[in-house]
Amino acid sequence: MDEVSAARSWLRLNQRRFAQVHTEGGLDGHRVALARVDERERIGVHDGDDVHVEGFTFGASSEQARLDRTRAIIDRIEPGPHEDGIKLEILARQAATLELALLELDPHHDPDEGMRPIARALDRVILGTTGWQRHDAVTSKVGPASVITVSDGMMTAYYQSAKAVVLAWPLMTGDDGLEYLSTRLEVMAAGLDRDASPVLQLEETFGNWFYSGRPLPQRSAPPASEQRRRALTVVTACMERFVLAHEYVHAVFDQQAAPFPGDEPASAIEREVRADLVAAQLVMGSAITWDRFAPNMSLQGALLAVRIHEIVQEALTTAGRPEAAPSDTHPPLRDRIDMVVDLYREQVHREGDLDVRGMLYATLTLDELWRRARVPLRAWLTSDRPFHATWATT
Ligand SMILES: [Zn+2]
Repeated sequence: MDEVSAARSWLRLNQRRFAQVHTEGGLDGHRVALARVDERERIGVHDGDDVHVEGFTFGASSEQARLDRTRAIIDRIEPGPHEDGIKLEILARQAATLELALLELDPHHDPDEGMRPIARALDRVILGTTGWQRHDAVTSKVGPASVITVSDGMMTAYYQSAKAVVLAWPLMTGDDGLEYLSTRLEVMAAGLDRDASPVLQLEETFGNWFYSGRPLPQRSAPPASEQRRRALTVVTACMERFVLAHEYVHAVFDQQAAPFPGDEPASAIEREVRADLVAAQLVMGSAITWDRFAPNMSLQGALLAVRIHEIVQEALTTAGRPEAAPSDTHPPLRDRIDMVVDLYREQVHREGDLDVRGMLYATLTLDELWRRARVPLRAWLTSDRPFHATWATT
């Protein structure tokens, strides 16, 4: 029995209760997840101090550290038969990046000082996905450990929403003959007037999520263009990293009580504000070091995660769902977006407003899609049709 064994059993029981992917227990999620890490390592092409992986370039040694940490996290979790190993590996990779960034905040780097407090806290954090449909991630204290549970439906719904956003971005050809994605809102909106398929994609993703438990549009395929695939990969990674980072702050500083480098929050709402601000900093800092993404690119994903949450909240409210009850421990979602933008202006932004506009482009695109999709979706949401059983609330 180690410190996280009770947490692992708790996670598995919850996974079995909502098992859709592997109702009887499928391939061992542990083996599947580790095999995916091996695959990522195998396809990397080394080039001096760099390594090229699936169209992205990382530092060879920082990428190796991330692969090793991903394996350590998967081994710590010991994923069971109801875990989707592929989805778990995606989350574990984002978690590994965050854990490496968090370890740099540890006050005692001297190994003679014994176990460092953040390292110690991280050894007690596990994560997993469940088939329980929720629109937020949850961190639960189980025995001495903390479990971060992510609804796999939420993960898919967020990915599909981001895909609808990227598909709405007009693909242009520059003077140099190279393709690029336009960031002009009026060009994007005019494109949707001609071809509303990204709107339909968003509407179907939410509708199918609520009523069938599977957040997929009728036709789902990766974007055909390289520019769009790349943009979607960046946005999705940063979105998932932000969601996890917020929960890691709760797990490490609120639940495991690692010393925080700054003032301790005095109330539940202050803990939420701290979780958002530290999460945004972790996403921004880790993306520079481990992914070589610019801060406005990585925060674009963080902001999109907050905005998708807000839209799902609105849809759930229209449907009269109990999950939509306003929270008295969370700041209003609008304030959450403003806080992240302010943080960026303070820490990164120098002059001009182009990079701030770039950072908000995904969120503004989603607003445009939602403005068009909410009307047809409303007819479903106000009907008597019940949500899928995996939207259980207890
Ligand atoms: Zn929170």
